[in-house]
Amino acid sequence: MAQRAFDIVTVGGGLGGAALARAMAERGARVLVLERERRFSDRVRGEALMPWGVAEARALGLHTLLLATCGHPLPWLDIFVAGLQIAHRDMPATTAHAAPWLAFYHPAMQEAVLDAAVRAGAEVRRGVRVSGVEPGPEPEVAFEESDRHERVRARLVVGADGRSSLMRKWADFPVRRDPERLLFSGVLLDDVPAPDDSAAILFNPGVGRISLVIPQGGGRVRAYVGYHRDADSPRGQAHDLGRFVEESARAGVERALYAGARPAGPLAMFEGADTWVDHPYRDGVALVGDAAAASDPTWGQGMSLTLRDVRTLRDRLVADDDWTAAGHGYAAEHDRYYAVVHRVDGWFSDLFMDVGPEADERRARALPLIAADPTRLPDIQFGGPELPADDAVRRRFFGEE
Ligand SMILES: Cc1cc2nc3c(=O)[nH]c(=O)nc-3n(C[C@H](O)[C@H](O)[C@H](O)COP(=O)(O)OP(=O)(O)OC[C@H]3O[C@@H](n4cnc5c(N)ncnc54)[C@H](O)[C@@H]3O)c2cc1C
Repeated sequence: MAQRAFDIVTVGGGLGGAALARAMAERGARVLVLERERRFSDRVRGEALMPWGVAEARALGLHTLLLATCGHPLPWLDIFVAGLQIAHRDMPATTAHAAPWLAFYHPAMQEAVLDAAVRAGAEVRRGVRVSGVEPGPEPEVAFEESDRHERVRARLVVGADGRSSLMRKWADFPVRRDPERLLFSGVLLDDVPAPDDSAAILFNPGVGRISLVIPQGGGRVRAYVGYHRDADSPRGQAHDLGRFVEESARAGVERALYAGARPAGPLAMFEGADTWVDHPYRDGVALVGDAAAASDPTWGQGMSLTLRDVRTLRDRLVADDDWTAAGHGYAAEHDRYYAVVHRVDGWFSDLFMDVGPEADERRARALPLIAADPTRLPDIQFGGPELPADDAVRRRFFGEE
């Protein structure tokens, strides 16, 4: 039987695993991180941390690190609907946490946070593949490095193994999934003459398209295009850059913006549908980040949720020596804030992305009211799940009051 040498073992050393390892190691816990990748590379992941996620990074003491290593603040947000600019928003002046968006190259962020975990005292093993977990009062993790098989026990195992998490299966968490609706694709582009201090979101409702332009400085942008799957989506051409640029234009991006662009990484497309676990703690195993809830990337909430998970779990573990109670407390809180994000993301998909006569009718009612009074837009995606998101907010959004 494996020896217990650690308080916490995290399966995965991406943002969730590394941030938790750092947060707990700096409070004196013995932490082991098991990460499959020897070097992080571009998997087309989140590169824009919402203002409420920036606030979470501040609360975790990660914000200064991100700024010093990879972060590129974007104080301005331009929003276009059907080709018309409806907002040039000063994010620090108008968001609940007085913060900008923070852009970064995801692999650079991962290296920076994992290095910080090491500096805080966590042991990090890379090139190691976890192959199973046995939940229980002293949960046990099995992993492989080259041909060597090892096992380790811990007081708590944290599943931070991302959107295709196997931890959910090993620890017997039933996984829930929304019906498939949106698709989301992204690519890193160089030589894009976008302003360095402004992100842009472009909606083209009716044709089920959204595009995001997220500058990282020096002419580099992370470009995304989202599609409704019933709106002639280019599934068969998911890796075709020419088609990506064409679809960006259909969402409202000026063709000239990408005219001289060169790809700086892979182009990939993902299913948007949320997958999640209710109550992501059981039997000595807690799930954080995408393993707990992979939210639709269209709405850019994933890294903010991940940091919220880390902060919530850290605070519970530090406050309560009974880590079973702490795990359940974290899971109950997770259910509450994730439900808010999930609900509001769904409203935005209904109003801005759905296609067909019913959706057109919805928009005909809601959009003129929103144009006249933009406070009808709930600000949860920028301001976080503590903002009101009840039925009265929903009715104002859809113009149904
Ligand atoms: C196209 C796209 C765009 C996105 N855009 C945004 C955005 O703009 N803003 C935003 O906030 N979020 C965005 N997200 C979401 C964001 O990327 C995720 O929420 C975030 O990366 C989750 O971090 P994580 O640590 O939970 O998972 P991951 O980053 O996936 O990390 C999991 C880690 O676990 C490791 N691992 C997995 N299995 C094993 C194993 N068996 N053994 C050892 N190691 C293992 C992996 O190698 C990986 O390093 C986007 C996602 C996608 C797909």
